[in-house]
Amino acid sequence: MAQLSAEQAYKLEYVHGAQLDALREEACDVRDHHWGKVITYSRKVFIPLTNMCRDECKYCTFVQHPESGNANIMTPAQVLTIVKQGEQAGCKEVLLSLGEKPELRYREARQMLAKLGFTSMIDYVVNICELILKETNLLPHVNAGTMDSAEFSKLKAVSASMGMMLETVSERLLEKGQAHFSCPDKVPATRIATIVSAGELQVPYTTGILVGIGETWNERVDSLVKINELHHKYGHIQEVIVQNFCAKDDTQMAEFPEPSLEDMLRTLAVARLILHPSISLQAPPNLQERYKDYIASGINDWGGISPITKDFINPERAWPQITRLAQATRECGYQLQERLTVYPSFLSQPTYVEPAIMQRLKQHCREDGLAEQQFIEQSLPTLKTAHQFESTTLYRVAL
Ligand code: SF4
Repeated sequence: MAQLSAEQAYKLEYVHGAQLDALREEACDVRDHHWGKVITYSRKVFIPLTNMCRDECKYCTFVQHPESGNANIMTPAQVLTIVKQGEQAGCKEVLLSLGEKPELRYREARQMLAKLGFTSMIDYVVNICELILKETNLLPHVNAGTMDSAEFSKLKAVSASMGMMLETVSERLLEKGQAHFSCPDKVPATRIATIVSAGELQVPYTTGILVGIGETWNERVDSLVKINELHHKYGHIQEVIVQNFCAKDDTQMAEFPEPSLEDMLRTLAVARLILHPSISLQAPPNLQERYKDYIASGINDWGGISPITKDFINPERAWPQITRLAQATRECGYQLQERLTVYPSFLSQPTYVEPAIMQRLKQHCREDGLAEQQFIEQSLPTLKTAHQFESTTLYRVAL
């Protein structure tokens, strides 16, 4: 079927019951036609390089104010310790995630960076990527927020892929009392400009929407339509994440209602029908244990799952064990397969990845572009779950 237009999608806000079931079936047909009976995930380690950020999203528990005593920047040695553990556990991706430009707002961040020999976080990220490439066999995926062309160019030379959630195109959410008040990097035009820069530089890119942070249905649809437009222009969006807002204690949105399961299923199906079928549709499996419902709404990817580090952005939600996820996926008639941080269709386009990085990707992939899967969970009796690791892998640096 043709992709949904914004006008068609606006009318689906209250679709439910048999009509919602039919919509989800259409989404599954599109998914099956393009992606087959395979649901993918990326085996990764998560590196929260710094938890300082100049923004103040009202739902965030990741961010730490310098005065809290918990703010940190991980040292190269700390990063390498975790990445090498990941290498042992068969991971192929290092997700570098960090707050936005803390050095522009906080003296403490500038001081910590100076002790490491840098004046900008992006330059430090470049250095960390180089180190990962030199000392391990893993591939960096950089999630450093809003960036300009010069920053993308530096990082493209040392990473396989990058990403940043668009979250929403709603300007309303920047107003006082809303989720993105006092967040200069959450201005939709700035985030769209970042995705455009990634497109101009042909960076394999991940983006997505955050569902239920106060946006209207039409704004949610507009966000998906905007991502699709950018992909049509540049062709660089390899995956879109549809992530549900989770209310967290100690945040200003602790009492804010989370999106219902039906709302998520409706949004996933509409996303699958708005986006070009070649864009991977992902929903994180640790944020709502509804594997089968998500598969039955058109997703084809679970995103990055770590066998050794917890989800630092949503620390209260453990990653599912990969074997459990494989079982649930199999029960739906699909096969769980590991992929690399660069999707197969981008591996055949040399302009998207630097030659040295492409060489490493090729070492890790099979003929069809998915990952060589050497690891079977049962063969790792000592591998700990995310919960067990929680107290030992929360690295903090006091500089
Ligand atoms: S930009 Fe990211 S790290 Fe910074 S406050 Fe918002 S959600 Fe937290």
